[in-house]
Amino acid sequence: MAISKDDVVTFHYRLSNADGQELESSHGGDPMAYLHGHQNIISSLENAMTEHRAGDVFTVTVAAAEAYGPRQEGATQRVPIKHLVGDKKSLARLRPGDIATMNTEQGPRQVIVVKPGKFNIDVDTNHPLAGKDLTFDIEIQEVREATSEEIAHGHAHGVGGHHH
Ligand code: ZN
Repeated sequence: MAISKDDVVTFHYRLSNADGQELESSHGGDPMAYLHGHQNIISSLENAMTEHRAGDVFTVTVAAAEAYGPRQEGATQRVPIKHLVGDKKSLARLRPGDIATMNTEQGPRQVIVVKPGKFNIDVDTNHPLAGKDLTFDIEIQEVREATSEEIAHGHAHGVGGHHH
């Protein structure tokens, strides 16, 4: 059964940049699950899924513009270091280029450290993956029909999906 709208797809992935450097991986943990046809994942990745079925292993490269968009210039902000997530020790170890998590009114978001300091820190608020072409190595574990509840919610439930 090829993947079609309202299927729940469970897959493992390895995400790497254009240099082949691994950025994220689900291997060693739970796979991801998503509801197909509901724009829950990057659209070019979702489009690539449609030809596939359980057990397939394939690679998709997604251009930066279709992934997290281009990097915005001038997105550097100086923020109090207490706005970052982490204990004092780990915050003191931050170096330029490190990824940190900042609490914002919209919730936690990942930022790139530009210039660490004792009380304030300069961070680049671009998404760490902005401006990067991304390669996904995908291994599809399972494809099943969504439940009516999942379709009503617009997302997958269970392992790798949403828990209520
Ligand atoms: Zn739900």
